[in-house]
Amino acid sequence: MTMNRRDFLKAAAVTGAGAIVRANASETQAGHAGPTAGRQALTDRMGFGAWINDVRLEPLPFDSWPPVLLDEVAERSIIATMDLQARSGYNMFDLFGLFAAFGWPVDIVSAVDQDRDRRVRRILKAAHERGIKVIYGLGVYSWGFDRIIEHDPAVRGPNVHAMCGSKEESWEWQKRIIDFILQYDFDGYHLEASDLGRCTCNECMRRWPVNAAYYNVITGRSADYIRRQAPDKYIAAITISWADWNKGFTEEDKHGLVELSRKVDSILDQGHHGTYIKASDRKAFIQRLHCRYGTSGGFWVYPPFRCHRLRWFLPYTRKTGTHIKELHADGGRTVLYYQGPVNNPGVEANIAFGGRIMSDVGRSVEDVLAEVLDELYRPRTPEALKKLVGVFQLAEEAYCGNLNYDADGVHLKGLPSHPGPGELHIGFGIGLASGASAVPVYLLEPNLSDKGRTLYAKGLETCLKTAYEIEDQCGDRERAARLKECIFHALDDVAAVSYARQTANLGR
Ligand SMILES: [Zn+2]
Repeated sequence: MTMNRRDFLKAAAVTGAGAIVRANASETQAGHAGPTAGRQALTDRMGFGAWINDVRLEPLPFDSWPPVLLDEVAERSIIATMDLQARSGYNMFDLFGLFAAFGWPVDIVSAVDQDRDRRVRRILKAAHERGIKVIYGLGVYSWGFDRIIEHDPAVRGPNVHAMCGSKEESWEWQKRIIDFILQYDFDGYHLEASDLGRCTCNECMRRWPVNAAYYNVITGRSADYIRRQAPDKYIAAITISWADWNKGFTEEDKHGLVELSRKVDSILDQGHHGTYIKASDRKAFIQRLHCRYGTSGGFWVYPPFRCHRLRWFLPYTRKTGTHIKELHADGGRTVLYYQGPVNNPGVEANIAFGGRIMSDVGRSVEDVLAEVLDELYRPRTPEALKKLVGVFQLAEEAYCGNLNYDADGVHLKGLPSHPGPGELHIGFGIGLASGASAVPVYLLEPNLSDKGRTLYAKGLETCLKTAYEIEDQCGDRERAARLKECIFHALDDVAAVSYARQTANLGR
């Protein structure tokens, strides 16, 4: 029996309820138009950098996190990411670090020299040409204020990264930064008040003993100010670290968020360690809000910036696709979907998949994955496409299906209420400055144990074998070769870790 690619896509599609076969392979390969948002589309289909160099096509092995370098490679990488986003149905790209990371200079303006100014404006123009809105990742009283706090004792509290919430001088600095950024044509703001903690001075603790109340006040004030200055800008409030990861939001916190929801367009409960609004409560909570609610897709890999771009291969379309469908069913209409370097084959497929499933959550995960891989790799036969789909599905199952964590003390909490991590760190020093270990932590305990590693290695071996088989059956040979190389590197790491661990165990 001979099947063409369209037939295969149709066959794959009938397995999903309400799935629509929309792909005309020749048309989408040639054109740049992404999928049109269907009846069951999310409203805000946002890519999240998160930082400007998280999508970088080349590693920065000697930089520390988060690198704020905005050079030719960074600009080119951001635009390449937007090309894929536009083809995949995204309508927003949220980025941190276009101007500053930990510290704006006290004069504010010298954060942007002529070269940076030109690059930022070119990025904005490129985004708008592609139908993508650029959302500026803005720290609220923290993320960007370290030098100001050092300089101005009036805003200083016990936290060297966070201005004091009780001081009017802090608000003046916050306004000055917003005013500066408003001169650019950003389409919206991602307000993040809490990632680096809060002010814990006596006055702040007396006024806002509850963390969520503190963050709510400074976020709401910033949102009100931006609304007054620029009423048409999109505003998202991000609630990372507003509550205890295990307990989630209290009734009092939820009441505060309902009030905040009058001031913003979206509230994003990203879910680094599981969401603060538990799935069982999500639908009822969303109905109380005056704005949209969203997550970061249930599961994501935080892209490492120091290591070789082909060192990890972690597609997760089933995991995130399942979450996005459930979120939509409960009324969630925003996803802040993590991006990464598009020259990593797993990242590329995840990004392309994310945009398409957000554009129509009624489609089956397998149908969307098949469509994405068909367009990217152009397999010449339906059998080759089927094998390609199998490689991405097996790689996900072999890793995610063998995760066995209890807690790493930082990110992963294996609680029954959220049995997996939201954010997975690859390792290679991510999040740590110089002196960071260079090991692939995603392959170590508590993520994978000996048994899990062995099973993951077996799965990747099968993926590699298949990648060899189909390499010359793909119209895009270069991409197929890159896939093979990427799986090879990932497998090398698993094999090396397994061998080292087994040898160490034997020596005991
Ligand atoms: Zn304070």
